[in-house]
Amino acid sequence: MSRFWSPFVKDLVPYVPGEQPRVENLVKLNTNENPYGPSPRVIEAIRAELNDSLRLYPAPNADTLKAAIADHYGVEPSQVFVGNGSDEVLAHVFHGLFQHGRPLLFPDITYSFYPVYCGLYGIQGQPVPLAEDFTLRVEDYRQPNGGIIFPNPNAPTGVLLGLEQVEAIVAANPESVVVVDEAYIDFGGETAISLVGRYDNLLVTQTLSKSRSLAGLRVGLAVGHADLIEALERIKNSFNSYPLDRLAIVGAVAAFEDHDWFEQTRQAVIASRQRLTAELAELGFDVLPSAANFIFARHPQHDAATLAQGLREHKVIVRHFRAARIEQFLRITIGNEAQNKALLAALRELLAD
Ligand code: PMP
Repeated sequence: MSRFWSPFVKDLVPYVPGEQPRVENLVKLNTNENPYGPSPRVIEAIRAELNDSLRLYPAPNADTLKAAIADHYGVEPSQVFVGNGSDEVLAHVFHGLFQHGRPLLFPDITYSFYPVYCGLYGIQGQPVPLAEDFTLRVEDYRQPNGGIIFPNPNAPTGVLLGLEQVEAIVAANPESVVVVDEAYIDFGGETAISLVGRYDNLLVTQTLSKSRSLAGLRVGLAVGHADLIEALERIKNSFNSYPLDRLAIVGAVAAFEDHDWFEQTRQAVIASRQRLTAELAELGFDVLPSAANFIFARHPQHDAATLAQGLREHKVIVRHFRAARIEQFLRITIGNEAQNKALLAALRELLAD
């Protein structure tokens, strides 16, 4: 801290991202990246863009990408916003659509970025307790004059809320913006984008970091009523009028064009999650039902922090949160066959100790 810091920055509690270790040969199952890598067409498109055009600014409206996304979801390009990862999209949502001093409801166990953004933008975060089984109770989400946000499936639990229940929350709160953060929706849920034509208070955010395996490219999107999107564009243009760089635009367009790759890798992750869930249950873990590319599991006889440390000594890293109600859980990203095997072998040794 220096004397030049504003009092606001002194009080700010920043988000701590998951570890990105520099050590080689780790089985990295801690930040929900996709083990299968992006479509080869993405790499080709980025290579083709590595030329003299880098001297030129990118398209100010990322219109080719917005068109590809609009086409994919059957909406108009004016209903699509894009940014550098859904974290940036969410930052603009908090800034432009959740109002200063007004309440914002979100689950008490959820993506830990939300309270950080509340601090950044002066919004009153109101955590709503999840039910005993970690599901969202639809009837608890009533906010006459503020906002609501929740991931679906939720993070870090992986628990999914059905589309009808999502709609019930949106319909019951016509005077509040309801944001559904669908970072993991492609691994087993049904997107609420199908509802945006009917509700002007619904905004859905998604990312290319997970199901399209492009966490390093930083592309996120939001779909909603054109008036909500316009607010996000105003904010974005005030920070940086180029929503994405040239490589991100062409890479993301190619990712939406390669539907087969998306489908194959998504199905591979889902099948792998089913196998890993069964194998962990066999080892005695309680595994929450997951619709994401990770699972949340606890062992009734073994302390989660000790297991996480033990796994690290076996060169496997998973995520452990020291937070109320979930401190006995491990969040484990679904890996490829070899990674899952290494995880299970390490766990067998640790449980036998
Ligand atoms: N929402 C949720 C629920 C997440 O878990 C993540 C990933 N950490 C994000 C949004 C942000 O993803 P990205 O910025 O990579 O799009």
